[in-house]
Amino acid sequence: MKDKGKRLLAVVLSMLLLSGCIGQNQQQSTERTEDSAFTESKENLEVHFIDVGQGDATLIRQGEHAMLIDAGDNSKGTAVQAYLQMQNIEKLDYVIGTHPDSDHIGGLDVILYKFEWDTVMMPDVDKDTRTYEDVIKVIQDKNRQVTVPKAGETYSLGMAEFTIVCPQKNDYGDNSNNYSIGLRLEFGENHFLFTGDAEEEAEQDMLASGMDLSADVFKAAHHGSDTANTEDFLETVDPDAVVISCGVENSYGHPRAAVMNQLRQMGVEVYRTDEQGTIVVYSDGENIIWNCSASESWKAGEPTVSDAGQETSQLQEELQKEPGQEVDNAAYVLNTNTGKFHKPSCSSVEQISEKNREYTNKSREEMIEAGYEPCKRCNP
Ligand SMILES: [Zn+2]
Ligand SMILES: [Zn+2]
Repeated sequence: MKDKGKRLLAVVLSMLLLSGCIGQNQQQSTERTEDSAFTESKENLEVHFIDVGQGDATLIRQGEHAMLIDAGDNSKGTAVQAYLQMQNIEKLDYVIGTHPDSDHIGGLDVILYKFEWDTVMMPDVDKDTRTYEDVIKVIQDKNRQVTVPKAGETYSLGMAEFTIVCPQKNDYGDNSNNYSIGLRLEFGENHFLFTGDAEEEAEQDMLASGMDLSADVFKAAHHGSDTANTEDFLETVDPDAVVISCGVENSYGHPRAAVMNQLRQMGVEVYRTDEQGTIVVYSDGENIIWNCSASESWKAGEPTVSDAGQETSQLQEELQKEPGQEVDNAAYVLNTNTGKFHKPSCSSVEQISEKNREYTNKSREEMIEAGYEPCKRCNP
């Protein structure tokens, strides 16, 4: 028993090192782990709320099985790729693009190129953006098809199971958020609810459906916006904890004050990626433990743009497509087809197709040793 505890501690501590939860949180989390009746096992369920700034990306693992819900915006694809590789993920049973907004599916093309996957799920709604086309193109290039799940359907992920809770309707006009694919994940006695960016109308439809929406952990809809997370809905879900995935000082003012006040009043613990970085939750089917302590700031965002405006998000989406953005953290960009490597700022980089493009932090010498040739234009 003692050894088991130590092993769990080691796992949790190594997770802490990889995640943004450090300092005081680390101490508290250690204490928690020792107190808890949690049973450590490779067969536990893990939910990783990956910090992708303003956007969503959630990795769920159970035993050998894994699934990814969203992959952040266009600039985060490689970061999500790196996170999955660090977790030794080779294959994803499911990849879900909740809805075609860039802060959810922007990084998905990279993931779909770089990993093996069984099923890709997206709602039956398209968007006339390059981001959306990029995702569809990878799926077509691989001769695969999108699965459009229906509310009420159940899928298994190893010993876990998930039920599609939304969209409940085929038509929500041009509000892309309301088409979000949502699911309730069940592992033993623990439940997790994810509803993408589903707003009030979609929440009302979920409530009207009579489906079981109760959950121990709810990922706040639409990054904690008050266009979602209505009082009725939160009370029905009745979560112990809520995770908010949003960017530091994002212009949408997420999470909104009304939502934070409601959660505080309900006595719900709040975890947030803007303050805590990547957040990881472990479930043994009975108990849930976290890799950091709950946020106690209760801080609401300050909006500088409307979070309902479709035009704003489209404009931002096109800006995000500017070359160079995606490669912020890489030393070099490789073209696996030509065998050349480039500086991230090289004008040739944007011409490299996603399929042949890779990022590396290896040194110039290492690249040459590996048989790569420096680009003559940018002289890396
Ligand atoms: Zn979003
Ligand atoms: Zn959205």
